Amino acid sequence: MVDLLTLTLDRQTPEKIQGITQDFTWQWLGEGLLQCTPKSSYAKTIVLSAGIHGNETAPIELLANIINDLFAGRLALAERVLFVLGNPEAIRQGVRYLENDMNRMFCGAYQHLKQDQETDRVAELEQVTAAFFEQSSVEAQRYHYDLHTAIRASLLPVFALFPYQTRPFDDFLIQSLDAADLDALVYHNAVGKTFTHFTAETFQAASSTLELGKAKPFGQNDLAEFASIDQVLRAVLSGQALPIRHKSSIRQFKVIHSILKQSEDFQLQLSADAPNFSTFQKGEVIATQQTGNEVAVDQQVWILFPNPNVKIGLRAGLILTEIE
Ligand SMILES: [Zn+2]
Repeated sequence: MVDLLTLTLDRQTPEKIQGITQDFTWQWLGEGLLQCTPKSSYAKTIVLSAGIHGNETAPIELLANIINDLFAGRLALAERVLFVLGNPEAIRQGVRYLENDMNRMFCGAYQHLKQDQETDRVAELEQVTAAFFEQSSVEAQRYHYDLHTAIRASLLPVFALFPYQTRPFDDFLIQSLDAADLDALVYHNAVGKTFTHFTAETFQAASSTLELGKAKPFGQNDLAEFASIDQVLRAVLSGQALPIRHKSSIRQFKVIHSILKQSEDFQLQLSADAPNFSTFQKGEVIATQQTGNEVAVDQQVWILFPNPNVKIGLRAGLILTEIE
């Protein structure tokens, strides 16, 4: 039994760091890192991560419950899986990050920052993920679900982002997100420095960043709100059929533009608590700054992750259009 969340919160090493249960072998690979391999052959090799942002507790609890159910024999394991609690110190402190946003630090970007425990952690996650995929059966398809909750409310409450890639998107990944009752899929238009961009680009994994609702402290989550994704992840891990979708058709958007904050006078033309997927009509001003204003050029655009408080040079929001 490895209670990965309790070990992480208590800064503990388990008594045994590897073992065998009835249907899988497991290895604790370091703080917040647990690998489980079924005894039988497997078709998928899956990274399941949460807590890259330390205050996004619901997905962390969801993974912890899945791990506990695997060890208790309540959930059968059919696929190889690496569980990742991304930023242990930020999880313990209940904050998004300590010095820098870890989900902007992958693909080697951490090497350009002053070394600290978060740059070290990203380097460790890159190494552990590489070893996990490289040691997996060569026939196994690679997946990565990176689970988040958003800082702000959202007009489309649950959605997934795909990292930019030129190869076709994996059918099973899209089917699983559809089955999880997500409201929307968003396709990035440019390379990023996210954990899912790293796994998609470096290992050709079918990767997606999931935004599953609003961030709340430990103990204040209603995990019933996360039942659909929980059911899907359990079906994926145990090789069972995906559940039936309950919502209307999933909507699809593509990123057409990133708003960059270029000076201190940067302002978004939105209230501070405006939800994700707020819209602008053609000609409306989206943001102002010395270097020039952002104006909606398409008939209707949507804004995702508006945040005027980012550091200069970083992304203050994404502009989307809907794919018909
Ligand atoms: Zn997040």
